[in-house]
Amino acid sequence: MDDCIFCRIVRGEIPSPRLYEDDDLIAIRDIQPVAPVHVLLIPKRHFADLLEQGRAPEGPAVAAAVARALPAVAAAAGLPGGGFRLVTNCGPSAGQTVMHLHHHLIGGRDLGPKLL
Ligand code: 5GP
Ligand code: ZN
Repeated sequence: MDDCIFCRIVRGEIPSPRLYEDDDLIAIRDIQPVAPVHVLLIPKRHFADLLEQGRAPEGPAVAAAVARALPAVAAAAGLPGGGFRLVTNCGPSAGQTVMHLHHHLIGGRDLGPKLL
């Protein structure tokens, strides 16, 4: 995916400090944070969205890698109060603007009872 912005970040073509990295994913701070802590978990493998990931033979393993990385990412993010919300927008009508699967880890303030 030559012109995918997150593929370019994964490849290091767009410098972006990494909070966390392993073989399967990177975690970086969102460029336009909606909360004091707003981190993006980005699989290195290009899946357009959650559905494409779910259909790919190797997709579930990548989803498991994200789950496995979460404690380390949460620790690296520095979350006062400890809690966070994990949000994945799937498709333009759900607000997805970058068509490379990613998860938003949001926290650092009281997020309230609502989803958004
Ligand atoms: P989406 O709307 O697709 O769920 O989320 C895309 C997110 O990527 C947005 O929150 C946006 O601020 C973030 N973003 C877009 N381009 C960049 C970038 O070049 N660097 C970083 N760190 N975040 C980006
Ligand atoms: Zn990509």
